[in-house]
Amino acid sequence: MSGTLYLIPTPIGNLEDITLRAVRILREVDLIACEDTRHTRKLLSHFDIHTPTLSYHEHNERDRVNRLLSDLQSGKSVAIVSDAGMPGISDPGAVIVQAAVEAGCPVTALPGACAVPTALAASGLNTEQFLFAGFLPVKQGARRQALEGLRDLSATLVFYEAPHRLLAFLEDALLVLGNRPAVVARELSKQFEEYVRLPLKEQIAHFMHQEPRGEMVILIAGKSQDVQTEPLSPRLTLREDMERLIAGGISPNAAMKQLSQKYGVAKRELYRQWQEEKDQADEVTR
Ligand code: SAM
Repeated sequence: MSGTLYLIPTPIGNLEDITLRAVRILREVDLIACEDTRHTRKLLSHFDIHTPTLSYHEHNERDRVNRLLSDLQSGKSVAIVSDAGMPGISDPGAVIVQAAVEAGCPVTALPGACAVPTALAASGLNTEQFLFAGFLPVKQGARRQALEGLRDLSATLVFYEAPHRLLAFLEDALLVLGNRPAVVARELSKQFEEYVRLPLKEQIAHFMHQEPRGEMVILIAGKSQDVQTEPLSPRLTLREDMERLIAGGISPNAAMKQLSQKYGVAKRELYRQWQEEKDQADEVTR
């Protein structure tokens, strides 16, 4: 009879966030396949677990499948763990699960730590329906296109993002989705856990003053009647953006250059729009 493939969630910050069952199964299985054996060994030694380990990461995931499948088929039980959270969720795991399912081996996932439901549950946004979009593409064009594909959904949108890309992500989200309510959930279950609950525009202002740090989940309200969901054209935020940058001590020319890169609009065109907006604002105050 085939052995069972177990997906075992591990803590995403706080070491206490591992279940008694997870610890027992990690002790009982024949093999633990780990995203990073050195990283997992620290967790295992903390819980006095001495099960053999094997590396299983995104670069050898496909090559390892045959070895793990033959272990399962010979009756051995195997646990998959990633560095943190639920294996297979933006982490290695899906390939061996598919192979085991196809081969008719029992597959079971233990409930436990995962950043998506944790952030969603405390976000204050709609939890009835959500769409987890994982990490969006790093390149601006592809990222905006991915956001456009999500623009009309009413479900809460949930993303993973690295701290150094947070501002670029928020700026694209503001442009494509409009100024929706959003939450940046940082460092969940760790000492400096924080939920920043602000509309996208204010999130940008917040993280321009406070450098984004640590691990984070971004949650954005789905399309609704009550909030503006029309995409903002660069024109709508241009004057404010320019004024903010100039007030921060940047020359108008350098500010134009930054915004030209940010919006993907030629500097000359941005300059024209800026002048036009300034003229309009002057007319209103006259
Ligand atoms: N498998 C993991 C899970 O179940 O959440 C996700 C792994 S993915 C490679 C890592 C990303 O998850 C981070 O970049 C961040 O977006 C999110 N993440 C993981 N731990 C987190 C934490 N403690 N607080 C906030 N976000 C976290």
